[in-house]
Amino acid sequence: MTKLSNSLAQADISTALHPYTNARRHEEKGPLVIERGEGVHVFDTTGKRYIEGLAGLWSVGVGFSEPRLVEAAHRQMQALPYYHSFAHKAHEPSIRLAEKLIEMTPQGLDRVFFTSSGSEANDTVVKLVWYMNNALGRPEKKKFLARTKGYHGITVASGSLTGLPYNHMDFDLPVIPVSHLTCPHHYRFGHEGESEAEFTARLLAEAEEVIEREGPETIAAFIGEPLMAAGGVMPPPEGYWKGIEALCRKHDILLVSDEVICGFGRLGSSFGCVHYGFSPDIMVTSKQLTSSYMPLAAIVFSEKVYDAIADNTARIGTFGHGFTASGHPVATAVGLENLRIIEERDLIGNAARMGARMQEGLRRLGDHPLVGEVRGAGLIAGLELVADKATKRPFDPVGKAGLMAFEIGHEEGLIIRNVGDTLALCPPMIVTEDDIDEIVGKMGRILERTADWVA
Ligand code: PLP
Repeated sequence: MTKLSNSLAQADISTALHPYTNARRHEEKGPLVIERGEGVHVFDTTGKRYIEGLAGLWSVGVGFSEPRLVEAAHRQMQALPYYHSFAHKAHEPSIRLAEKLIEMTPQGLDRVFFTSSGSEANDTVVKLVWYMNNALGRPEKKKFLARTKGYHGITVASGSLTGLPYNHMDFDLPVIPVSHLTCPHHYRFGHEGESEAEFTARLLAEAEEVIEREGPETIAAFIGEPLMAAGGVMPPPEGYWKGIEALCRKHDILLVSDEVICGFGRLGSSFGCVHYGFSPDIMVTSKQLTSSYMPLAAIVFSEKVYDAIADNTARIGTFGHGFTASGHPVATAVGLENLRIIEERDLIGNAARMGARMQEGLRRLGDHPLVGEVRGAGLIAGLELVADKATKRPFDPVGKAGLMAFEIGHEEGLIIRNVGDTLALCPPMIVTEDDIDEIVGKMGRILERTADWVA
């Protein structure tokens, strides 16, 4: 086993460029090669078992090796492994999944377009919105509002919407017209002595000021994650989404809820927009849509958006957009079965119950001298490590302690993700009370060992 692992590791080092990895460091350190998964666990090539505290990439909702998904993929592979949906073609899995999505998502979202990833989906959103506004005879209405630290993907348009330095730096992004508003994270971006309500009011005033300055007739859409996840697990301050929704309505700006992580129960509610009480015109889903067993994303949008686009396709003669794998039959068949499992096993209810237990357990760790803030909702949580708890002073360099905690996590058999010095958790939605207690226990040990290292 070790020999296999070593030769695999060597092959990886000499062939691959890894996403989100320091390539030179990887050449020295090598990969952790994961071989199989079972429930909430994954196993490396030495047989070591880890709790997947981030469900892969915030995505394996039903856990690893779910036989029903394997069976759904197998059945569809045998019946029709591939077909497309260009030029009036269709197949049953994508039709059924579109129906299911319209049934599950909030009222007013009645049309579906499939892509293979969240990034492609957000690029498609940009194009849909531009196409729509050209069709409506308002070609100047093209700008997007997004937030610093927001994450919407890495393709050229979605990467422009993302508000994280690493995704822009040396990629010459952003390239589309986008204004990044202040990240709605009170702990880090609230002013000294500013209450959460005052912070919300300031953010909404800023948004309105930007809209007025740029001219509402130039702003097409506002995009946001209901709870910002990949940028560091930041739930919105009270009243934020209601206020943003009101501004969008007032200025005829489309509201896009990027539910790639929050969708299908992560926060203990069906969708993030339901959790925070707003109604988007466009919703983007992926990850948990298939529990990441297959690459798939779905944009679900209003009939109003659809109508403008549909009229224009009639004028032009076609809709000049679509991917070879849009609505791929195996991916959509797996997605449909996955959503059925989420419903039949009440995984959204489980996420609410286990999420409450996890948040409570982690908040008990909040007294630790290394922990600046414990935050999150449902089954998504973040622990921000700080050099000085009283002043919130971050580590220098930022990420030093987070990276150490991440490595210690591996030794302790818990896979987490460090976003700078924030330790992120988002376990599979099938977690049990025992799993949660084990995760919280391991987080406690990770904190102790990280504190020893820092000292
Ligand atoms: N949107 C959000 C909110 C995400 O979290 C992600 C990925 O983490 C994306 C979009 C991009 O998805 P993908 O990695 O499938 O391109």
